[in-house]
Amino acid sequence: MAVNTSKTMGHWIDGQELSPSGSDVLESLNPIDDSLYGIVARGTVEDINTAVNSAYAAFASYSQSTTNDREAWLCKAAELLEKRKEDFIDILHDEGGSTRKKAEFETNKAISFIRAAVGMVRNLTGKTLPSDYPGRISMTWREARGVVAVITPFNVPLIKASRLCANALATGSTVVMLPSEEHPVLSLKFAELISDAGFPAGALNVVAGNGYDIGDALTGHPLVKSVTFTGSTVVGKHIQKLCAQHNKHVTLELGGKNPLVIMDDADLKEAVPGAVRGIFTHQGQACIGSSRVYVHEAIYEQFTKMYVAIAGNLGMGDLRDPDTIIGPLISERQRERVRRHIEDARIKGATVAAGGTWDGNRCAPTVLLDVTPDMDVFKEETFGPVVCVYRFSDFEEVVAEANNTNYGLSSAIYTANIHRAMSFAKRIEAGMVHINGPSLTDEAHVPFGGVGDSGFGREGTEADLDAFTDLKWVTIQT
Ligand code: NAD
Repeated sequence: MAVNTSKTMGHWIDGQELSPSGSDVLESLNPIDDSLYGIVARGTVEDINTAVNSAYAAFASYSQSTTNDREAWLCKAAELLEKRKEDFIDILHDEGGSTRKKAEFETNKAISFIRAAVGMVRNLTGKTLPSDYPGRISMTWREARGVVAVITPFNVPLIKASRLCANALATGSTVVMLPSEEHPVLSLKFAELISDAGFPAGALNVVAGNGYDIGDALTGHPLVKSVTFTGSTVVGKHIQKLCAQHNKHVTLELGGKNPLVIMDDADLKEAVPGAVRGIFTHQGQACIGSSRVYVHEAIYEQFTKMYVAIAGNLGMGDLRDPDTIIGPLISERQRERVRRHIEDARIKGATVAAGGTWDGNRCAPTVLLDVTPDMDVFKEETFGPVVCVYRFSDFEEVVAEANNTNYGLSSAIYTANIHRAMSFAKRIEAGMVHINGPSLTDEAHVPFGGVGDSGFGREGTEADLDAFTDLKWVTIQT
């Protein structure tokens, strides 16, 4: 979908595209060659205030909308996304550098997340409770919290916008979204879709802009009652402090350095492609990517040979070709970190078994062996197509190594031994564990999230009931 680059897209506030308060713009670039993709207004604190006021004003009536209405609007949104799928896939290609496979996967997930949010509408239930006092009827009910701030990252902008906005809207809360400055066009088009689905003006507002300039104005705004943030650990920790100062609910979905363990009894026909998919999907720009692979010494040589052979042959052609797996990295900021990790590892003695080379803004799938703790890639999140493969000799050792990180998002183990698998699941310090499947997977209703530097709280249709509503205790003395 071509975007008119002679026109500046405005913010989406109060059900319409609104002229921005300032004249500054954000240039959205196509990561394949850094050419101009779209021009978007660069939000100011004044724009944030206008958007929050719009969401707050809409909340009074939106929170009283019927279950029928909210279900109908959500169903319509899913239907429209299905109809406009190719438009969104185009934006994911040209604004985000997504391949056909990833863009198709992301739009399908987004549709599924909006559909799943429909089920939340009738799940806003409370309880009747026993009481210490004779004749007292005691109960709870859920009330929508109010204005929710949704802050999204560049790598899965449609998945995050659809899940979090749909879940918040299902509960009767209203939203102000600050999308990644790297993917603003997609989020503005999403807001238009929500409006076309019939949601009232002000229910979803989007302000494009640089989070470093205007993020604090949003998360610190007194009318914002809940914040859900997906992005880097450093920004997440900053937001957590700000939310603590203002005593507001916060969910943080942050970075990862996810371990994937391959035991000597693993089915390599499953484990090798799983480990490839686990890290190289979206050229490694995935929080749940399997960036640390631990292989039992008995199968290390065999595994590495198979793994390197597949990794070295992943398609790097046209993004619209379904056989292309590796696209460009989104920005110079991301590329610089990936280059630094590879070079630092190389200088300090790592073996580059595959990749380590670049074709324009694309980094070839890179497999590093002999990685040691003094290398940046050992502990830091690379967020690129770079994987470290380690050899281990026994289960105790690999559990300790897998836990040797401040992150704790996702994890995986391939083994035929159910006792080993369950022991790993119990002992790994992570929010998510997958047995005989890669660390990279998500579903609408599961508690998605991590521990340690990977996050705080969970998201999903069940977890978001707590994030976006308050429980009220009510008694009647009879
Ligand atoms: P980022 O932290 O640079 O930016 C994320 C968002 O935060 C952007 O919209 C940005 O504008 C905004 N922001 C920046 N400063 C802010 C502030 N002070 N207040 C409010 N918002 C602010 O992250 P990124 O580079 O876009 O995304 C990559 C990171 O996201 C990786 O670390 C990745 O692991 C993580 N991520 C996590 C998940 C998850 O579910 N756990 C999913 C996707 C990505």
